Amino acid sequence: MSTKNKRDPTICTDPIDATVLADYWLAGLPASEEEAVEEHLLSCDSCGSRLREVIALAEGIRQIAREGSLRMIVSEEFLKRAAEEGLRVRQYAPPAGGKVDCTVTAEDDFLIGRLAANLSGAKRVDLAICDERGVEQIRLPDIPANPDATSVVYQESITYAKGAPTSKIIARLITIDEAGAEHVLGEYTFNHTRTIPGPAARS
Ligand SMILES: [Zn+2]
Repeated sequence: MSTKNKRDPTICTDPIDATVLADYWLAGLPASEEEAVEEHLLSCDSCGSRLREVIALAEGIRQIAREGSLRMIVSEEFLKRAAEEGLRVRQYAPPAGGKVDCTVTAEDDFLIGRLAANLSGAKRVDLAICDERGVEQIRLPDIPANPDATSVVYQESITYAKGAPTSKIIARLITIDEAGAEHVLGEYTFNHTRTIPGPAARS
């Protein structure tokens, strides 16, 4: 390191954004950006300690997610670990514009929808969960979407799914361009059949 670059490592003049640190930790950054973050962290204690805070937070969220009750985007790594821990992952992978028949059983720990999409060039991606008429019910804004990935791995709340009635759910991946206009990346229909007996949580 040259004298010119010598600085107090506890003070950062160009702190890495917390969301970038989180994506870095979750391996959601493009390779070039990941390298830049890595490089910065090597010499910056300030961002290093912020990364540790982000990790603590992410691990806390993971702990909750381990129960399978959150609607969220998960990583391949997460699914791999869940399987290694002996948890039962039920997975459906409808093609873009396609549909799939699905259900959930009492033994399942995770319910995953693998949404195939071309994510390259998408700056921001939202996931909308819609009812059978396509009317949006819930939106997960700005989900982690690796531009190199060929799908988004969506975890439906297993707690909700286990109590859900037989119904049709439409998921929609939406990208938002610089001008704020929305473009549908893909639409996926889940024809859910209730196989667990008992009263429906909602109809
Ligand atoms: Zn820094």
